[in-house]
Amino acid sequence: MEQIDAVADMILQSDKVVVFTGAGFSTESGIPDFRSPGGVWDKFDPGEMNYQNFLRSEEIREEYWRMHKMMWETIRDAQPNIGHHAVTDLHNMGKLDCVITQNTDGLHQKAGVPEELVIELHGTMQWAGCLDCGQRYPRAQVHDKMLAGEKVPQCDDCNGILKPATIAFGQMMPQQETREAERRSSGCDLFLAAGSSLVVYPAAQMPVIAKNSGARLVIFNLTPTSHDHRADIVINEKTGEALSQVVARVKARLKE
Ligand SMILES: [Zn+2]
Repeated sequence: MEQIDAVADMILQSDKVVVFTGAGFSTESGIPDFRSPGGVWDKFDPGEMNYQNFLRSEEIREEYWRMHKMMWETIRDAQPNIGHHAVTDLHNMGKLDCVITQNTDGLHQKAGVPEELVIELHGTMQWAGCLDCGQRYPRAQVHDKMLAGEKVPQCDDCNGILKPATIAFGQMMPQQETREAERRSSGCDLFLAAGSSLVVYPAAQMPVIAKNSGARLVIFNLTPTSHDHRADIVINEKTGEALSQVVARVKARLKE
């Protein structure tokens, strides 16, 4: 396919590739877009499950943790798909500047991208943190506490309330990660957006920053996005498969 070759050429000409991923990138790993119909949000009221209510109400905290328990049971055994492996290949070729992701599943790290190169704009499900002392706990450990009967798991150090290390509705976006994502986006020479409909801000601003700073922009998504008109190339295919084909082409060209 002509577009696949064209994107492979762009990668070969680039030194700093930023890969930006959204929920669509993980669906090929069997992780549902939790906000889609049939997702956990159908069983819980998103209007209620916000940060302010979590702080305010023990009842909401129990609901919130019940919801996250279901999410965790869905994602904990999920495996990286060919798209994640393709991104890791870019890193191994020395092409990857960083990954910026809206996903909280930790699959880029599971696929071998070093933790320090993954900027998680919406936090991570792999950890929970104490709202009082800031102590962090691996999510699996907190799951065990819930299985032992804690409806709202507590901090072992200070008995404070634990919260999943994801960004809740109404919670401030992580400033350091957002600034770092903006900096990386403005400094890259190629920005590959994959599996995001590019509507949630500030995440959706990153391809715009990249493009305005002179990078080339490629959008992989099953359906059209709000930034397609800015892109040099748009590929409306399954993102993992398409990116994997691109990276295979790059590898072949490097061997020629
Ligand atoms: Zn604590």
